[in-house]
Amino acid sequence: MKVTFLGCGDGFSIEQGHNSALLTFENTNLCIDFPESNHLGLHQLGMKLNQIEHIFITHLHEDHVNGLQKLALYHRVYPNRMKPKLYVPTGLKDDLWQILRHGLELTTRGKRVLEDYFDVKCVDNAFTVAGVKFELVPTLHVPDMLSYGLLCNPYFYFSGDTRMDESYIRSIADEVQTIYHECHMQDDQLPSHTSLDELLSLPESIQAKMILMHYVDDYVQTDRREKFHQVYKFRLAEPLLGYM
Ligand SMILES: [Zn+2]
Ligand SMILES: [Zn+2]
Repeated sequence: MKVTFLGCGDGFSIEQGHNSALLTFENTNLCIDFPESNHLGLHQLGMKLNQIEHIFITHLHEDHVNGLQKLALYHRVYPNRMKPKLYVPTGLKDDLWQILRHGLELTTRGKRVLEDYFDVKCVDNAFTVAGVKFELVPTLHVPDMLSYGLLCNPYFYFSGDTRMDESYIRSIADEVQTIYHECHMQDDQLPSHTSLDELLSLPESIQAKMILMHYVDDYVQTDRREKFHQVYKFRLAEPLLGYM
């Protein structure tokens, strides 16, 4: 299981791309979320949009889904072997189409629905790709808004956007090799995201498993990241670097 960040910036990032990870395993791939900035990230990896085989959507904030329309149209114009499979939490499917339909419903060949572009799989608890199981984990992002992380035991837990859920992190920390956790890395407290101070309350053994993502552009320079790594156990996700 290789995890490559196509972007690891927050919702306002200019330089790092919005947060999204490309998982490669068993001769296939799965993208967690699909911001528009993924196009450049994939290009830099030598990949085209129509090589994405599976996509999972964590929630509907625009920095996580604003590349899906382009992905859908690219696959229609440059079809590959099959439509990409879109794993979408059941409660998000209708709202996702409402976001996308303004650009995808009407075409020169007639009306289209989401299923014309994607092989849509509504997911309640878990899904399996090439024998690898991914479990949905409800997160604490915005009150009453559906949002999810992904647990892929024994490889990783990917938090998606969330406030820190300490009891959950402690409950899975021993099961997984790596925890990809969001951290805004700003001095101000953001009510819908996780701060560095909160993560520092975890035992160092857990901190050492954590790769932080969805952070501000202040840490885009290599020397800023290295200084951070000298002080803390956490590592900051780096775009286009493959984590095993
Ligand atoms: Zn976000
Ligand atoms: Zn969000």
